[in-house]
Amino acid sequence: MDLTIQQNCPSCGAEIELNEADRLIQCPYCEVNNFMVNRGLLRFVLPDKAPVHIDRREMFYAPYLRFKGNIYYCTGTHLKHRVIDTTQRGVNSSVLPLSLGLRPQAMRISLVTDMVSGSFFRQTVKARTLLEKVSQPTVHDSEKIKASLYSRAYIGESLSCIYLPLYIEDGVLYDAVINKPLAHGGSAESLQKKSDRYHPGWTPHFLATLCPHCGDTLTGEHDSLVLSCCNCHSSWEEKQGGFHPISWQRVVSHHDHMYYLPFWKLEVRSTGVEMNNFADFLRITNQPLVVQPVHEQMVLSFWIPAFKLKPKTFIQLAKNMTVSQRKLPGGEQTMIKGMHPVTLQRTEAVQALKSVMAEAALNKQQLLPLLPGMSFRPLASDLTYLPFFDRGHDFVQEQSGLSLAKSVLRFGRSL
Ligand SMILES: [Zn+2]
Ligand SMILES: [Zn+2]
Repeated sequence: MDLTIQQNCPSCGAEIELNEADRLIQCPYCEVNNFMVNRGLLRFVLPDKAPVHIDRREMFYAPYLRFKGNIYYCTGTHLKHRVIDTTQRGVNSSVLPLSLGLRPQAMRISLVTDMVSGSFFRQTVKARTLLEKVSQPTVHDSEKIKASLYSRAYIGESLSCIYLPLYIEDGVLYDAVINKPLAHGGSAESLQKKSDRYHPGWTPHFLATLCPHCGDTLTGEHDSLVLSCCNCHSSWEEKQGGFHPISWQRVVSHHDHMYYLPFWKLEVRSTGVEMNNFADFLRITNQPLVVQPVHEQMVLSFWIPAFKLKPKTFIQLAKNMTVSQRKLPGGEQTMIKGMHPVTLQRTEAVQALKSVMAEAALNKQQLLPLLPGMSFRPLASDLTYLPFFDRGHDFVQEQSGLSLAKSVLRFGRSL
């Protein structure tokens, strides 16, 4: 479930409401767009309901780590997947609740800024440790497949920190969201030793959305990770606090009113299980296709959706598009209306390669045990928009005939 975040417009200061995945802040009041740049972990705080006489400078904030994303793991002869959406305690404690439960979804949270004047407990539990704990196969799965784990990937993963506000009154520690006592005893001094004050590096900063190439306004949707310049037909992603151009193309359709969905086209070679071209991929995954000389000439590319989908749909689409790449023509760099926003980063797409191999393999028993020894060498990457017909409930890809329900695309925006 998505979180609702209360945020002030970086340009005019007006209060606006954001979703968790939003990066392009479009202010309805001053109409200025700003792109949010995280420096490390995004940090939020739950609103407190502490009594007015409690001095906010004396309050404490306990970190909870929030994970949201999909996990894919290959064991035995199966590729399994699961959605993870959880908020877990980031400090060792016997009195604080283990998780925030549904609280972050039920209230409007805000980014931590210098306005929060209390003390923040230092995180003592590593994010990786928590992630491994919450991503353990379920009991049901682990009984069915006691076999070794061949690969594990987290895709579309977002990690953030949500602070639970606390205060001490008459020697009692209170949960300041519900004003309920958590523990007796303990002193503010001892808690302060485990805490830090606000650090300016915790707050994201904002980039003006101007094309670095021609100066025109960059456009995108609220959750776009890649912004477009329709004037000079360039695409930009944020890296280390600035916009950098990315290699992109659009497969041109001669039909009107097409919808374009973005894919990361990742050209690779693999070692361990050697694949030097598309024909190798077809043979190794045992596709029911006659391998032809033309396939030997084709560079192997993985076609990974550059937008979020439920794990099953995501991996099936990646596999089907990768198998169908022989039908896809080259494109050109022209912007057009109806291009779906990029909501999944290239670095996330790269994580999916072994899972796509596993999904594609018709000989899972043979291929899956080889995955741990396999590694991919990236040769090139390119963002490619493919044309889809609008067929009522579905989008149908023009060249390959693959279809995607509109409802899963809509649902993916909230993942
Ligand atoms: Zn504004
Ligand atoms: Zn431009």
